[in-house]
Amino acid sequence: MVKNVLGLSPEPILAGIREWVDIESPTTDPAAMNRMMDKVQGQMEAIGFRVERVPGRNGRGDHICCVSPWGWEGADPKAILMLSHLDTVHPIGTLTEKLPFRVEGDRAYGPGIADMKGGAYLGYNALRWLHERGERPKLPVVYVFNSDEEIGSLTSRWLIERECQRAKYALVTEPGRDGGSVVTSRRGSGRFVVQCKGRPSHSGSRPQDGRSAILEMAHQIITLQGMNDWPSGVSVNVGTIKGGTRANVVPEECSVEVDLRITTPAQKEEMARRILGLKPVTADVQVSVKGQITRDPYTKNAAIDVLYQHAKKLAAAIDFPLPEVHTGGGSDGNITAALGVPTLDALGADGAGGHSHEEHIFISKLVPRQTLMIDLLRTLA
Ligand SMILES: [Zn+2]
Repeated sequence: MVKNVLGLSPEPILAGIREWVDIESPTTDPAAMNRMMDKVQGQMEAIGFRVERVPGRNGRGDHICCVSPWGWEGADPKAILMLSHLDTVHPIGTLTEKLPFRVEGDRAYGPGIADMKGGAYLGYNALRWLHERGERPKLPVVYVFNSDEEIGSLTSRWLIERECQRAKYALVTEPGRDGGSVVTSRRGSGRFVVQCKGRPSHSGSRPQDGRSAILEMAHQIITLQGMNDWPSGVSVNVGTIKGGTRANVVPEECSVEVDLRITTPAQKEEMARRILGLKPVTADVQVSVKGQITRDPYTKNAAIDVLYQHAKKLAAAIDFPLPEVHTGGGSDGNITAALGVPTLDALGADGAGGHSHEEHIFISKLVPRQTLMIDLLRTLA
């Protein structure tokens, strides 16, 4: 049985989370996204944080960077950097149709409740709880709420990178994994498009004049799939294919989309070089590759282990097991870890069904996870 040393109760925490879930905020709807940002900005300001509002661009919503008023005296102060994304994958209307907020037994359902409004709220609420008691963490706190994580943080990455320069630790509130585990490493990823261009001809009367883009792509696909090295943590997936026009035309064009996952920085360089360097196998056909590494690998190191062991000890003190996992999926923790900031991820709500119409969190886990967040903020130094 978990010890509730702070005397917290789950009902007000869930009520706070529900207020955030009730403001639907898909990545692709900047006006809706900004309503969510308005709400959180107001709540962060109410507990004394100075808020920098970064206007959205490229069809995305705003981001906010919230800075604690304390802790900045002295030479080169370093902060606890907290990261939460407030965008969800669910379109407007999900809340009224396919995934209304509801409680069934120990589960609370709603769009984005696990990924990651539940965790974002636990982060905010830990700071609020301390503020109301006149307490403050030993280190200054910078809290970035961004609006585009679900599509790769393309417009917020610079902001997270900027804040890494004055960060001592990064705490990321993605949902807890597989029974509440925290994440101490994630694979990096890349996206590529491979295009083959051949020469069209009549497949019946002039087959010898044609150069088949599909035949060439078949060779390229076998090469790409052959790059898989799962035991070393490299996976390459040709996920889509398009090509040709009619059965009796030697196809001029073919293209595929490729997802790459890597585990170490060395694999990142090597795999990007191999994929971008693909060469034609058949005669008179062009092969071109576009794409890049989109997330650096988040590799566990000694400093991350120290941070994890610290969190595990805090959790053990309330009889709350806190296993760690490595996961293939990416998050903003990839950005902070790749820049050398010791990062602990999946500190958010414990739940399941993210990105689906079964998305939920476990109400009985709210108090221990809230306690852990408060204890981390109180003890990190
Ligand atoms: Zn997420």
